[in-house]
Amino acid sequence: MDFDYDVIIAGAGIGGKVLGLKLAKAGYSTLLIDMKPREKIGLKVCGDGISASYFDKIGIPKPQGDELASVIYASEVISPDKKHKLIVKGEGYTIDRLKFEQRLLNDALKSGAGLMDETSVLRPIVKNNFVHGVVVKNLKTGEVREIRGRVTVDATGQAGALRIRLPNDMILEKHIDKFDIAAAYRDIVEFDYDPGWGKESIYIYLSHKYAPGGYTWIFPKGKRIANIGLGVQPVKNGPTPVKLLKKFYEDWNIKPSKTIHTGGGFVPVRRPLSQIALNGMILVGDSASQANPLHGGGMGHAMIGAYIASMVISDGLERKTGILDINDLWPYAVEYMQADGAKNASLEIIRILLQGFTDEEINFIMKERIVSGEELYQIESKPKESGGVWSKIIRAVMHGKFGLLNRLRIAKDLYSKIHEAFENYPENPKDIVEWHNKVNKIVKEARDKLWRNPVEHTYLK
Ligand SMILES: Cc1cc2nc3c(=O)[nH]c(=O)nc-3n(C[C@H](O)[C@H](O)[C@H](O)COP(=O)(O)OP(=O)(O)OC[C@H]3O[C@@H](n4cnc5c(N)ncnc54)[C@H](O)[C@@H]3O)c2cc1C
Repeated sequence: MDFDYDVIIAGAGIGGKVLGLKLAKAGYSTLLIDMKPREKIGLKVCGDGISASYFDKIGIPKPQGDELASVIYASEVISPDKKHKLIVKGEGYTIDRLKFEQRLLNDALKSGAGLMDETSVLRPIVKNNFVHGVVVKNLKTGEVREIRGRVTVDATGQAGALRIRLPNDMILEKHIDKFDIAAAYRDIVEFDYDPGWGKESIYIYLSHKYAPGGYTWIFPKGKRIANIGLGVQPVKNGPTPVKLLKKFYEDWNIKPSKTIHTGGGFVPVRRPLSQIALNGMILVGDSASQANPLHGGGMGHAMIGAYIASMVISDGLERKTGILDINDLWPYAVEYMQADGAKNASLEIIRILLQGFTDEEINFIMKERIVSGEELYQIESKPKESGGVWSKIIRAVMHGKFGLLNRLRIAKDLYSKIHEAFENYPENPKDIVEWHNKVNKIVKEARDKLWRNPVEHTYLK
């Protein structure tokens, strides 16, 4: 069979470009396809914040020069009543996302990757339960054509442009439930006065009043520029993100002199999809739901997914000829779930727990110092070592708040159970359905017992 490329990557976002760069560097013929024109690839509405921890791990140079807006050393989490603060230490950056991603694109192209820009990926080519490549449309000429590859990658972000067009029997989950998608909106604004934020911190405001089921953020980009936005759970009768952000500005007396850019988007905030490898195809980044369910940060996770995928694909292309099948690509899923997916799955339980807390409960937890910044960091990043932290939290609310105590106990149990399930992701694709059902049962229990509609308990009382 003839192939146009070893690997076809649909979507030249952050995940697609890191994968394209790694594979092209390793000598495989690689094609990136994106609907945007070349100079706008990487122009994505975003909070622009990323932890420093990813770059060395996957061998991508850190943001530098004009890609870098600020170096951040801590996240300050502010309570709904504005009276209490948790400080979570950790190094990170606010970036100029377009400039950072243009650098990744240039590096991928210099390493030998091909690029088709202004080209829309219409659907996968599917034959005998195998993905053979993609059908694309050139947006300048209208020409439609097929491109064939030994591996096809859906890296089209939350659109999941290939995933949603697969036959039903090829993949377990084609669509992401609205319940698990955050609707986010943000401005990049400038001030003609010193707004008084330390530019070495980012600020997270917890309150369902401004961001039902999510949070509001201020990410400084230098002294007088900031990325200010919010993410909400899009439940019925919820206020629109644009209105909510306006209210946040008013109540916090934030008065920018100029709006540099404004826009919204969606992020999947759930555990990774159960199946991210199939015959001839894998999913990477938001299309595989690899973003952090607690805060929606997905750039670093897409890079980790791409890095692991690059090693598994290289290995498969080296070992055999022709299309890589599900067994060749399955190690990507196993390694990703163990390295990153298990942690994110635990954070989905925390997300559901927090969405069910009232503002009063969050004020109580922060006022009584039931959890510290360091402990919050431990729960977010080290699920296996956080048993002691959970026990301390539960002891601290033992007196009086019985409803809260009960939910915390349930959350602790489900947080550990789902982590263990993801650490034991099936080595054999044949076992995936049974595993998927087991995980769904854990998530259903969390939704039934922990979640309460953040709009109802805030606005419709
Ligand atoms: C408002 C907002 C704020 C956010 N803030 C942060 C943050 O501060 N930090 C963080 O880490 N993450 C943040 N995220 C999430 C982050 O942007 C994503 O998780 C990340 O971009 C995922 O990378 P990706 O490569 O999977 O997809 P993307 O970066 O979305 O890239 C997908 C690419 O595919 C292309 N594409 C899509 N469909 C097609 C098609 N049919 N044909 C051709 N090309 C196609 C797109 O043009 C795009 O270039 C935020 C998201 C939003 C919406």
